[in-house]
Amino acid sequence: MNVDAVVLDIDGVLVDVADSYRRAIIESIDRVYGQTIERSSIQAFKNAGGFNNDWQLTDGAALYLLASREGLEMSVDEFTDAIARRGGGVDAALAVLERLPDPTQTRVTDMWDHDQLREVFQALYLGPERYEQLEGGKPPVETPGYIEDEPVIASAETLERLQSRYDVGVLTGRPAGEADIALDRVGLALNDHERITMDDPAPGKPAPDGLVGLAERFGADRIAFVGDTLDDIQTAANAETTDSDRVYHGLGTLTGGLKGETGRQKFVSAGASAVLSDINALPEYLERWLNSGVAWTRQANRKTETPREDRRDLDRSSQRDDWTSSELCVDTLCAGVRLGDAPHSRRCHCRA
Ligand SMILES: [Mg+2]
Repeated sequence: MNVDAVVLDIDGVLVDVADSYRRAIIESIDRVYGQTIERSSIQAFKNAGGFNNDWQLTDGAALYLLASREGLEMSVDEFTDAIARRGGGVDAALAVLERLPDPTQTRVTDMWDHDQLREVFQALYLGPERYEQLEGGKPPVETPGYIEDEPVIASAETLERLQSRYDVGVLTGRPAGEADIALDRVGLALNDHERITMDDPAPGKPAPDGLVGLAERFGADRIAFVGDTLDDIQTAANAETTDSDRVYHGLGTLTGGLKGETGRQKFVSAGASAVLSDINALPEYLERWLNSGVAWTRQANRKTETPREDRRDLDRSSQRDDWTSSELCVDTLCAGVRLGDAPHSRRCHCRA
């Protein structure tokens, strides 16, 4: 995979948010309604799509809790599957509730207070000082912010290797102020034009606008977008459909809610070009492709008029050349898995 720009998601890729955003989802619902969903249910909402924004996920999960109290007889998996069938997100969650009789449905939506949920979420996540700075006013609850508990996943060496070779940008659903805090902690220095946050006018992932916008700013022809959710992979796929001038690769990392073999299979099914154990496997993964005998630099792309489909074939042939000599499997279906280690994809070339 020869790319000239690398775009990174923040949550679950650069920093671990299991004890920050995900904890805030669970506890903000609990503080507002005195009951909450299981922590493991968060991933079911993420997988349904349309819940990249954790405030919206909190809204969707609160709707499920309130509807269950009012007699909705659906498991979380059934509820989120129904959301996925309706296109994902909060609107789809509301549409699923149409199966409740009308007085009940109205009671649920009347109790559903997304302004209060959002304020409590922000208070828990940011803590009092940052809440006053970023949100203004006094927080509704005072507790040390969960934002302080976000372990860094990306090593300094990884970021240095990426920035020395590629244009590097960030595409995140975080508000700009919260993106800055994470980027500072990680040590990734970016200019404003190299990042797109919730504060930008572009619609959120999986809409392709942010990713295509960054590709345009970088003047990139081939873009790798690395994320931890299926919506991230869909973002790259949507960009590919929208922007016929460029090639977009969606790469998944197993450091968010999708883990292990099950997580890898979900990424593969969603069309991920590769699945990495974590972001620190990315530089080697990309360099193996670059060193695999097919020189596809941005300059080369500009000088030649190779049809797009041929370029893809070139990529595929370079993969096949490389996998036999690699320590890591670099087949797109199971990149990052050591050769000889199970489990590799059943369709992986290295099993041949
Ligand atoms: Mg993420």
